[in-house]
Amino acid sequence: MTRMIPHFVGGKHVEPTGGRMADVFEPSTGAVQARVPLATTDEVRAAIDVAEAAQPEWAATNPQKRARVLMRFVDLVNRDMDEIARLLSSEHGKTFEDAKGDVQRGLEVIEFCIGAPHLLKGEYSTGVGTGIDVYSMRQPLGVVAGITPFNFPAMIPLWKAGPAIASGNTYILKPSERDPSVPVKLAELFLEAGLPAGVFNVVHGDKEAVDALITDPRIQAVGFVGSTPIAEYIYTTAIANGKRAQCFGGAKNHLIVMPDADLDQVADALMGAGYGSAGERCMAISVAVPVGEETADALAAKLTERVAELKVGPSLEEGMDYGPLVTRDAVNRVTGYIQQGLDEGATLLADGRGFSVEGHEEGFYLGPTLFDHVTTDMAIYREEIFGPVLVIARAADYEEALAMASDHEYGNGVSIFTRDGDAARDFTARVNVGMVGVNVPIPVPIAYFTFGGWKRSGFGDLNQHGTDAFRFYTKTKTVTSRWPSHGALRQAQGPSDGASFVIPTMS
Ligand code: NAD
Repeated sequence: MTRMIPHFVGGKHVEPTGGRMADVFEPSTGAVQARVPLATTDEVRAAIDVAEAAQPEWAATNPQKRARVLMRFVDLVNRDMDEIARLLSSEHGKTFEDAKGDVQRGLEVIEFCIGAPHLLKGEYSTGVGTGIDVYSMRQPLGVVAGITPFNFPAMIPLWKAGPAIASGNTYILKPSERDPSVPVKLAELFLEAGLPAGVFNVVHGDKEAVDALITDPRIQAVGFVGSTPIAEYIYTTAIANGKRAQCFGGAKNHLIVMPDADLDQVADALMGAGYGSAGERCMAISVAVPVGEETADALAAKLTERVAELKVGPSLEEGMDYGPLVTRDAVNRVTGYIQQGLDEGATLLADGRGFSVEGHEEGFYLGPTLFDHVTTDMAIYREEIFGPVLVIARAADYEEALAMASDHEYGNGVSIFTRDGDAARDFTARVNVGMVGVNVPIPVPIAYFTFGGWKRSGFGDLNQHGTDAFRFYTKTKTVTSRWPSHGALRQAQGPSDGASFVIPTMS
């Protein structure tokens, strides 16, 4: 019988009451390896009931005790790292080592959240007026929700849940239905670490479950990561329903190659950043922008050589550079883009279509694909492909390259490779993109900075993780207090001024 991946609510596995289910594949073989229930509105509401009931006690638990749960959680995840990475790899299709990286980048945010007692401190000013002190405190919002994509099934749920629960909220995660096992495993480990039942809940589902979360008045904030059309839909619906929302979307990340760059270094960087995880990363580089024809010709030659050497195969087999895509639908979508690129007149230097792995003919594989002479009006330049497809879009000069990255509708990440500090400095100051790398191809900020794209890569104002996350998941209460003196001190202050009908000012 096919394994069923349960919901996790109130500290236990919960069987579905509704009828709809989805297949969970093993992308390396193409086989269905499990089924996942798609929650009904009533099931989501029942989970919110549980999270709501658990929230006051969790909020009243002092921040240091909450942080200690996270400390134990870090140890448990490290204890089970290989098991989690194998599970992740078998449902997503990224290699085992890359799956460990997915878990590790999430853990680093949990490590940052262990500093919650410090991060939640308010401000205090004494004597702002006679006998008057002002202070602020950060309080949790209540029940908050996260809706996450398939491509980082450990990292992104942890980026969101870590700061949310460290701040005293309870949490409902609606992970991707394509690789839902790791989120359930994380919920089990949170419980083992001492997190009270009902603080971290996982409800599987699709649009019905998401709509139930983003319209329920008890959900105070929604954190989303996924494709741009869904990010925009969830952002507008959540805020129309009175919630805080931060919704991160798709990307088309450029890597600018200046004529003075070390082209071997650039070509190596582009292999990892373009094809790692089969290009299914929001920070993947999908557009290489060499500056000048000479740079472009030399780069195209080096990339063509390296692409031919990439090893593609089952995700759990050692020595693979990347594994299969997540589903057959994903393969078909990317294949469609390759055809479109050809139809629009781009030069195909490497064609990944029709790629298969012996013994795994039904797996969702695509070989590395490389296009040259791609122009800014082509669909393969404008749209996110989210597959192992790298395009070379040539720029005549630095200003044109800068404008290409700045004018693109997405603004997640961008990188420049150069030996010229002045060019790099000008680029970082002027480019209209949220995360910038200088001689670093995938500039994902470390946990104690914040992560967020600009333009149509992000909706909302605060970023993910770092200090922004603690702002997002708390509300600030500001107290102005005055303690009128009694006795001798009171007499020294003189008689009361009586009622005042003028707004107090500092003038
Ligand atoms: P997706 O938008 O298809 O799904 C994301 C989540 O939304 C899932 O939980 C899914 O169940 C839910 N969802 C899907 N359709 C919905 C609908 N109609 N209504 C309500 N909810 C719906 O994205 P994906 O394919 O899982 O992930 C890949 C995308 O995520 C890419 O576009 C990638 O760039 C983006 N991404 C962005 C970031 C970032 O931080 N900007 C990080 C990782 C991934």
